[in-house]
Amino acid sequence: MDTHLLIGDRMEAGTETAEHILNPRTGDLILDLPEASAAQVDAAVAAANTAFATWSRTTPAERSGYLLQIADRIEAEADAFAALEALNCGKPINAARGDEMPAIVDTYRFFAGAVRTQHGMVAGEYLPGHTSMVRRDPIGVVASIAPWNYPLMMMAWKLGPALAGGNTVVFKPSEQTPLTALKMGRIFADILPPGVVNIVPGRGETVGSQLVNHAGIDMISLTGDIATGKKMLQAASKSVKRTHLELGGKAPVIVFADADIDAVVEGLRTFGYYNAGQDCTAACRVYAADAIYDKLVAALTAAAASIVFDAADDTTNEIGPLISARQRDRVSSFVERARELKHIEITTGGKTHANGFYYQPTVVAGALQTDEIVQREVFGPVISVTRFSDPDQAITWANDSGYGLASSVWTRDVGHAMEASARLRYGCTWVNTHFMLTNEMPHGGLKQSGYGKDMSVYSLEDYTAVRHVMIKH
Ligand code: NAD
Repeated sequence: MDTHLLIGDRMEAGTETAEHILNPRTGDLILDLPEASAAQVDAAVAAANTAFATWSRTTPAERSGYLLQIADRIEAEADAFAALEALNCGKPINAARGDEMPAIVDTYRFFAGAVRTQHGMVAGEYLPGHTSMVRRDPIGVVASIAPWNYPLMMMAWKLGPALAGGNTVVFKPSEQTPLTALKMGRIFADILPPGVVNIVPGRGETVGSQLVNHAGIDMISLTGDIATGKKMLQAASKSVKRTHLELGGKAPVIVFADADIDAVVEGLRTFGYYNAGQDCTAACRVYAADAIYDKLVAALTAAAASIVFDAADDTTNEIGPLISARQRDRVSSFVERARELKHIEITTGGKTHANGFYYQPTVVAGALQTDEIVQREVFGPVISVTRFSDPDQAITWANDSGYGLASSVWTRDVGHAMEASARLRYGCTWVNTHFMLTNEMPHGGLKQSGYGKDMSVYSLEDYTAVRHVMIKH
């Protein structure tokens, strides 16, 4: 197993306090991983700055070639990557191998293509005797900070556009899920010029904080909690670093009376509980029209109860455990507080397991708009259902949230779909589906879900700066 940091052309062990890396299925120790020291973080930032001088001058075609090589290596080692991700995160092997690996490979391939086809304003004489042109240039050294829910995919979302754009990177994986990032270190060391990508594992308050406050960093890219995002903004304000923040969600799912209920239930079963609900776009906050409310709750309850999540034969599991005992207990405490309310009924789930960090797929029916379970991100396998009688009210409630990442609308009426999509204040609105992402399309939030896009050409724009060059003649 790769456990070394990547600093320039050196792969070496961290020298600070070891973090316990656990198997979420059992709670057993996988290994103790020493985190990067302050001197190692400094060295990584210095290596990235040195590498920037030459990497930023490579052509799009050259960078594209490197990204394609990286994609090929991940594809060739996809079984090993999937096994490691499944071990560290508790993901079912079929999800890690079948769903995530092809998407990760495609991210690097997408940016390899996108960087060669960038569009922009037309050069010309906007003042007589002066020719203007617009350039898109790299920003510099990016501090990339990733969460634990999709470790390798978040790395791809961050490194793909950053490297394609000509930036160099110091990457910090989540302290809970560093294993696939460390394996990537070997691939970067083999393929890329030294210092273009550096990897420093460790905790947020030590390695992460040093990194984002570092004078040698030009941009901070975080996927994480809103509270962490606010810390990034404070760090960035000291030297006016650029920021790119993807910060959680609480996706509303509006089910109109004319919706195809079987499709809704199948969608919720898949998109509400995928990755044990540890997904910022999880379909977790359902608003159901009066006319179909009872039918929907009954069918969703049966569907959630049928999800396979703790089978000894992992190939039959549809979801896994939560990432940690802390996260499991956090999810459980949300449900327990909801359970105390008279109007709430936990129609299925609502229990932990003796072993590992499992939590049962849960439906919280009868939730009211003001309930905590409707307002706050649970980040676990829990769906709340709230009844509405007025479609206008449903849209108002859906928008009544500090979050603004993802949403969906379920209806057979194209007018309802268009009206709701136009009014929902979310980075994405799906109609009659949820959760579907593709590398060509932007993913990112509004409001406290942050700003900046992952995937798509918009992400490449976020990781580059528009510059004006004017020539007098
Ligand atoms: P987190 O904010 O606790 O940690 C994210 C990363 O930030 C980790 O690497 C952590 O070490 C680091 N960090 C924490 N404090 C730091 C500090 N002071 N300085 C620098 N780095 C610091 O989030 P998490 O618990 O790992 O992930 C779950 C959260 O991420 C959820 O809120 C979820 O919704 C969000 N998320 C959002 C998206 C999205 O695309 N919007 C995707 C995945 C996860």
